[in-house]
Amino acid sequence: MLEGVETSRLLKTVTEQAYNAVLITDADLTGGGPFIVYCNPAFCRMTGYERSELLGRSPRLLQGPETDRTVIDSLRQGLHQQTFWEGSTVNYRKDGESYVVNWNISPVSGDGKRVTHFVSMQQDITARVRVEAERDMLIQALNQAHDPVFVTDGDARIVFANAAFESLTGYRAAEVTGKTPALLSSGEQSAEFYREMWKALENNQPFQARFINRRQDGSRYHVEQSIAPVLNHFGRRTHFISTSWQVDDLVERENALQIMATRDKLSGLLNRRAGDEALYKAHHEHLANAQPLSVIICDIDHFKAVNDTFGHLAGDRIIQLIAELIDQQARSGDPAIRWGGEEFLIILQANLTAAMGLAERLRSAVEHLQDAEVGLVTLSLGVAEMLHGESTEQLLGRADGALYRAKRSGRNRVMSGAGN
Ligand code: GH3
Ligand code: MG
Ligand code: MG
Repeated sequence: MLEGVETSRLLKTVTEQAYNAVLITDADLTGGGPFIVYCNPAFCRMTGYERSELLGRSPRLLQGPETDRTVIDSLRQGLHQQTFWEGSTVNYRKDGESYVVNWNISPVSGDGKRVTHFVSMQQDITARVRVEAERDMLIQALNQAHDPVFVTDGDARIVFANAAFESLTGYRAAEVTGKTPALLSSGEQSAEFYREMWKALENNQPFQARFINRRQDGSRYHVEQSIAPVLNHFGRRTHFISTSWQVDDLVERENALQIMATRDKLSGLLNRRAGDEALYKAHHEHLANAQPLSVIICDIDHFKAVNDTFGHLAGDRIIQLIAELIDQQARSGDPAIRWGGEEFLIILQANLTAAMGLAERLRSAVEHLQDAEVGLVTLSLGVAEMLHGESTEQLLGRADGALYRAKRSGRNRVMSGAGN
């Protein structure tokens, strides 16, 4: 325990050397008071005044145009009520420079009955307020931005998502905070895609790609998304920022163009060019995976006569009807192509027996087709299975040869191309 004199000496030393500004006023609330009776060197440093310039003055001399009147009114009220008070506002140094001060005031009762003084601890919080204002401004700016933005921490957990992210995904920012962006993944992108992404990000490289994402309600959307590592002053990665823009319109247009470029308008089947590509791909897979590969070439019988008798439009309708049949009968993975005017090609991942089966079903289905105007039409078909070491041209040649023989031996029949 310290003696009374020692205590007061220690307390004086403490306040004189304290880092925070200390101000003591009297408790005279009349006649322009209270007035300063003590201030420590930290207070002088903060305000730029000498102690002698402050003693006997009202702390009001620190106020200026940007000092918040409501804070001062609340302070006066606190003084009158003799309660603890805390607040912050703008004050002014002797040289006129403003600073933001946060301070609290406690009433001091010298004799334990009557409040004789107020003691105030003050802190210059200008730097903190500036940082906070800057952060608020950045958040505001990100929320005003039209494109979705989110930030994840080093563990890939979302720490910020802007308003555009909320309106695009349907998630509230608060709901996704702490979760990983995996909650957006639609499952339509390969593990390889995500591996590539992480490979770039882990090397502190930005990654940009088209993502197919999922909203909260399960619906899909396409974004062109770019993810960049955020490095701190020491070059260490602390966060990732993802910015994106929605490209659903673009994807829709691309898909429409893709369909236009690969589909035949009249029949809806693949066009000749897409068919060539499909055949090339099927051949490649045949070689790579030792899967069987067969083709069926079909040609409508006596089609010139249909055109001549019933007109070109009726002919077109027959082409559409047969194309529809082919499309229904062929397996969804097996390309069906409008190979020529009234010729069709089907590429099957199947052996000759299975291909002959399908060809026969098609022949029979067309034979039973009844067009109200044209009546009966028939189809001739040539089938061939890819032989070891054969080219696609040789395969097509054998199927064509089979078709020719089907025509020659009376039409409305299926023939297979013999291997050689
Ligand atoms: P074959 O039984 O020997 O096949 O006799 P065909 O009369 O069908 O002979 P071919 O296959 O050589 O005839 C093809 C005809 O198909 C000629 C052409 O006028 C007609 N054609 C080709 N493309 C179209 C089309 O897009 N619309 C219509 N209406 N007719 C077409
Ligand atoms: Mg023909
Ligand atoms: Mg024909």
